[in-house]
Amino acid sequence: MRRHSRIVRIGKVKIGGDNPVLVQSMTKTDTRDISSTVKQILSLEDVGCEIIRVAVPDKEAANAISEIKKQIHIPLIADIHFDPRLAELSILNGADKIRLNPSNIEDKEWIVKIAKIAKERGVPIRVGANLGSFKVRPTNVVKALIDSVANEIKILNDVDFDDIVVSIKSSDVITTLQANMKIAKMFDYPLHLGITEAGPLFESLVKSSAGIGYLLINGIGDTIRYSISDEPTVEVEAGFSLLKALHLRERGLTIISCPTCGRCEIDLFPMVKRVKSEFGNISVPLKVAIMGCVVNGPGEARDADIGLAGGKHSGVIFKHGKIVKTVPEKDLYNEFKKELIKLIKERSSS
Ligand code: SF4
Repeated sequence: MRRHSRIVRIGKVKIGGDNPVLVQSMTKTDTRDISSTVKQILSLEDVGCEIIRVAVPDKEAANAISEIKKQIHIPLIADIHFDPRLAELSILNGADKIRLNPSNIEDKEWIVKIAKIAKERGVPIRVGANLGSFKVRPTNVVKALIDSVANEIKILNDVDFDDIVVSIKSSDVITTLQANMKIAKMFDYPLHLGITEAGPLFESLVKSSAGIGYLLINGIGDTIRYSISDEPTVEVEAGFSLLKALHLRERGLTIISCPTCGRCEIDLFPMVKRVKSEFGNISVPLKVAIMGCVVNGPGEARDADIGLAGGKHSGVIFKHGKIVKTVPEKDLYNEFKKELIKLIKERSSS
């Protein structure tokens, strides 16, 4: 059962409550370089990114937000560290949410000021703790992370601000799990999930899916971000793959493909790659099966909307696990592609 969390609005989207778990990412460009940042955000929108965060290290970056916002279509979060003036400036420039660590702000007048302006403009604040933010490694890391977040929440609550999103991240999966399980019971603020500094693609996919997946299966989490040392679009693709695997979201292409074995009758891997590259960006939910042989192909892919399977010098195309057409092997992919395009058109117009 999903944990009860309060609803927080971020620009035109909402997280928490019964709202879908949203997928977000962070730009890897210099925010002051407006055209590169916009270009990257638009490419993220193309793969379904629903919320974007940008780093705001100085005034020029905070001021760039207003122009960036004019050219994008998804809510923007300003990521601020240490300097409260940048939080104020980011909100004035149209940031839909800010990520801030109030315990880093020594002048409490600034906390009052930021809370006031954020409240007036309906801008939520994400507070959070990362293991990396501690100067000295604490003896009890989970407790330290929770105490840090609880302190940040208290600082904002004390100035009558509770439009809050919480995140607790560590590069260690088990630490992240334990801390999130505990914080989920202490507060009802929506939780942003992620394994921080999770490494390159392969390592991050494993660690993030294990950590974020475990929490989501336990009903915890309202928005997710895969942190990957790679192109930001793969963070979004990974996020949706996980949500689809857990039946939490339905979106675009899902590929069911076999690993191949000694029975395989076709050159399967290039076909899987072609389907992914040619149809990976469709928005209608569609399950496509690509199987190496007819022995197990249609049966294993019974849940698929459409599929292909290798046969002797030929291949079969099937829909919902039933064979509908047998074609010579050389024509297999092209015939399959025609059927697939037909099905996408039908789905898009229904
Ligand atoms: S579908 Fe056929 S080729 Fe693929 S793994 Fe199963 S038995 Fe092997």
